[in-house]
Amino acid sequence: MSRSHMLRQLEEVALWDIVIIGGGATGLGAAVDAASRGYKTLLLEQSDFAKGTSSRSTKLVHGGVRYLAQGNVKLVREALRERGLMLKNAPHVCHNISFIIPSFHWWQKWYYSIGLSAYDLLAGKLSLGRTTLLSKRNTLERMPTLVSRKLNGGVQYKDGQFDDARLAVNLAQTAETYGGVLLNYCKVTSLTKTGTRLSGLVARDLVSGSEFNIRCKTIVNATGIFTDSVMRLDETEHEPIVSLSQGVHIVIDKKHFPGHTALMIPKTDDNRVLFAVPWHDKIVVGTTDTPVGETSLDPVPLQEEIDFIIQHINRYLSTEIQSADIRSVYAGLRPLVRIKGTNITSILPRDHTTIVSKGGMVTITGGKWTTYRSMGKHAIDKAVANCGLEKKTCITESIKIHGYSHEADQNDPLFIYGSDAAGIRNLMETDPSFSGLLHPGLPYTRAEVVWATTNEMALTVDDILARRTRALFLDAAASIEAAPLVASLMAPLLGKNSAWQMEQVSEFSAIAKNYLMH
Ligand SMILES: Cc1cc2nc3c(=O)[nH]c(=O)nc-3n(C[C@H](O)[C@H](O)[C@H](O)COP(=O)(O)OP(=O)(O)OC[C@H]3O[C@@H](n4cnc5c(N)ncnc54)[C@H](O)[C@@H]3O)c2cc1C
Repeated sequence: MSRSHMLRQLEEVALWDIVIIGGGATGLGAAVDAASRGYKTLLLEQSDFAKGTSSRSTKLVHGGVRYLAQGNVKLVREALRERGLMLKNAPHVCHNISFIIPSFHWWQKWYYSIGLSAYDLLAGKLSLGRTTLLSKRNTLERMPTLVSRKLNGGVQYKDGQFDDARLAVNLAQTAETYGGVLLNYCKVTSLTKTGTRLSGLVARDLVSGSEFNIRCKTIVNATGIFTDSVMRLDETEHEPIVSLSQGVHIVIDKKHFPGHTALMIPKTDDNRVLFAVPWHDKIVVGTTDTPVGETSLDPVPLQEEIDFIIQHINRYLSTEIQSADIRSVYAGLRPLVRIKGTNITSILPRDHTTIVSKGGMVTITGGKWTTYRSMGKHAIDKAVANCGLEKKTCITESIKIHGYSHEADQNDPLFIYGSDAAGIRNLMETDPSFSGLLHPGLPYTRAEVVWATTNEMALTVDDILARRTRALFLDAAASIEAAPLVASLMAPLLGKNSAWQMEQVSEFSAIAKNYLMH
């Protein structure tokens, strides 16, 4: 993917079929769908792909055991089907993983195993494996640091896990393969109308400052927590439809929770679930559900959210986690569809909603990462029906996502790149210095910076350390120390000078300081 190539196409095409605003899971899913059906497709993202909510998830590809307990069978069935498709079509970024719910009362094992067996059944042919009951000894073998007092065993079930920001980049690349044009750092600033119908939009390239007047047949608004502000560009009197809820995760070293199995705590003090999930050789623990009023691309975790997570995880571990054990802490904002009369975000549904405005813009919001493909399909179906484009069949169920590879070795540090790993290895062979690590505490090489800058449209140090690699999420202090090296590797590739490098390091450090424990 090359940004200059994308910009050239933006200038050359006089009329787009579909323009998608927002380059998170939902917008990228819509872009893959629209481009693969053969529509002239443009996606515009104001920051980097997945900079918003889509890089800050719990990293689960799941039906949502919690939603089953709430009786939302329709959402769970759809998500389980999508889970199966994600694991089939993107096996380099999504895989299955075992979860254990520990049991401390005689009835718990049976109670949870009945619920989880229903979860397996709903997955049908796409089930990842059967739920099993474990003895106390088997539970502790899989989770040696689990508290053993009063433990009487556990229930083991299978679900999916992924790397959210890596999948986002791969979706952009997939859309490009089908002729889609996707631009990061390009913000939609206004919408244009012919009569009462929307007929285009104005976007600003935040890199060059240039403004583009873009004509199109239809617009999809997939802007997550920014949904209402884009709807207001269309209808100034628009009533907000999105409530924001913040979710925080802490990341700790694997020594505190060794093994390959994830822990699911089925009931927190605020009646939700909490996970501790092995991810890239660390453990991600979360999450919280805190109503917030302000949108932000860099939300900041609250101390009480961090305390809540530490308190809950410590009830289940034989060793105590302290603040000093936290390598990174990150926050994300859920775009939840509002229900009048409540501001308790944890009870708001996780289903998605589509709305077509009088001017013809299709807004899609809510949902989950796991349902990105079906959300993309719904949005494009609506957009096509609404603007009179010729109907074409959706083919995304069987599209292999960029990087697809079934042969890759899971122990290969470049496994996540799938078929692109060969290109990165090639860089290391051409210049052996590229095999050097960015930092002794991070599993990433210099070659990955070069690769992401030349092939994955990374433009800033934050793009590299937060989303092309996941350094910031794995170890915030190490990523701050790696920033100058990353800037120096990127600068010659982007034609930038030393002042740019200094600016980048300082901008990244300002972002990253919110991932550090104080
Ligand atoms: C804490 C947390 C944990 C979660 N865990 C999971 C999980 O484990 N599994 C799961 O399936 N789901 C999970 N989710 C849900 C999932 O992450 C979200 O549903 C999904 O990422 C939302 O994607 P989106 O594309 O709608 O929004 P976003 O990712 O926020 O994308 C919207 C994009 O629109 C862009 N934009 C806004 N305005 C403009 C404009 N004017 N011009 C151009 N671009 C614009 C923004 O910059 C942003 O990048 C979790 C969510 C949270 C918050």
